[in-house]
Parts: sequence; C-alpha cells; structure tokens
Amino acid sequence: MHFSGEAHLDPREALLKLAQNLTDAGVPIEAGEPEAGSVIVDCRGMAAQDQLPDMRGVKGEMLVLHCPGLNIQRPVRFIHPRMPLYIVPRGEGIYMLGATMLETAEGQRLTVRSVLELLSAAYALHPAFAEAEIIETGVDVRPAFADNLPRIRRINDVIYINGLYRHGYLLSPALARLTADLLLLNKQPEAFYESSL
Ligand SMILES: Cc1cc2nc3c(=O)[nH]c(=O)nc-3n(C[C@H](O)[C@H](O)[C@H](O)COP(=O)(O)OP(=O)(O)OC[C@H]3O[C@@H](n4cnc5c(N)ncnc54)[C@H](O)[C@@H]3O)c2cc1C
Repeated sequence: MHFSGEAHLDPREALLKLAQNLTDAGVPIEAGEPEAGSVIVDCRGMAAQDQLPDMRGVKGEMLVLHCPGLNIQRPVRFIHPRMPLYIVPRGEGIYMLGATMLETAEGQRLTVRSVLELLSAAYALHPAFAEAEIIETGVDVRPAFADNLPRIRRINDVIYINGLYRHGYLLSPALARLTADLLLLNKQPEAFYESSL
C-alpha cells in the first residue's frame, strides 16, 4: 500500500533529538524521586503494570539489515493474515524489518521461528535480501490494553499514559497534547480518557 503522506523515522535518532529540543528549551531532564506535591504523569510502560493490572504485554521482535545493493526509499508493509510485517528504510542501505506480534510478556528471547518468518518475508519481497548482513536483532514487549487502544487514566493524583501498543511513536504526540491540555487547561481529553475521580 502506498500512502503518499506517510512518514517514517529512526526512533533512536528521534528520541535523542526530542531530548535535545527539551534541553534547548530549558526543560531539565532529571532522574530520581519526584518532589512532594509534584504533579505525576506516569509513563513507565510495562513497569506500570503494578498500577494498571488490566494491561498486558505483546512481544515484538525485529531485525536490522544492511543491504547496500537495494534502494527502497519508502516503508513497505506486508498484508499478511498473521503477521503485520513491514520494512522501513533507514538510509545508507540500512533496513529495519519488523515486527512479530506474540501474546506473551516474555520479552527477552528472539526465537528461530520469528527470525525465519521475518527473513522469509524480506527475501520474498526482494531476493537481494539474501545477501544482506544482519547487523542487529531486537526484542521487547509492547504495553497494551484489551482493545489495543491507549489510555490516559487518572487514578487519584496520578495520570497514567499507557497502552500505546504498536503505535507509541505515532500516538505519543497526540496523547502528550491531550494530557498537557488536561493539566494546564483542565480540558478533559475527547478520547482515550478514564478517570476514577
Ligand atoms: C519490535 C517492536 C517494533 C515496534 N515498532 C513500532 C513502530 O514502528 N512504530 C511505533 O509507533 N511503535 C512501534 N513499537 C511500539 C513502541 O515501541 C511502543 O508503543 C512504545 O515504546 C511505548 O512507549 P511507552 O513510552 O509507553 O513505553 P516504553 O517505551 O516502554 O517506555 C517506558 C520507559 O519508562 C522507563 N521506566 C520504567 N520504570 C521507571 C521508573 N520507575 N522510573 C523512571 N523510568 C522508568 C523504562 O525504562 C522505559 O524507558 C514497536 C515495539 C516493538 C517491541
């Protein structure tokens, strides 16, 4: 599928740039305990399961390939009944190949089955991937609620933003804006909002 307005980014580069933008704007990034009386927005991902017990983990595995002989410039998605795979070009012959979707909170082990499925899909897309170098493997767990939609959930004085599932990078600007409007303008988010107040 070709979406002419579709963008793609390198998540690591994006996070570094976002952190730098905050620093440049005079916003400190600090580790440690919040001061007493602070407004807390909890974005701990899976670690917030202690407060959000209806959240589950969906395992995802991915590979980064170096295939300098190929020049794909746009993300390519596979329409597959079981695996919504995609290849995202990162430039200079680097491609991110992702991602599996497994209903488990085990997020440590990249399995042979997953690697076979991912690489078979890449090879089916273009035989040049047969000569690609595997330069990185990755595995993690996506935080998700039962309907796979995110939540801005207010419990007592804490706001939890979580359940971003497969779309953390896509959805976080919108969720951040909704949360900022809630905190600064007392404007109740029009979507994804639950409050136990
Ligand atoms: C293989 C794979 C491919 C993916 N591909 C895409 C994609 O193409 N596009 C997309 O939009 N999304 C993608 N995702 C999903 C995306 O990664 C998640 O939606 C996103 O990371 C969720 O963001 P989050 O900030 O809620 O949680 P996380 O990214 O898990 O961040 C939570 C952070 O909180 C920190 N933390 C935990 N406890 C504490 C504490 N007590 N104090 C301080 N910090 C704490 C953790 O260290 C972590 O850094 C993919 C996920 C996987 C696994």
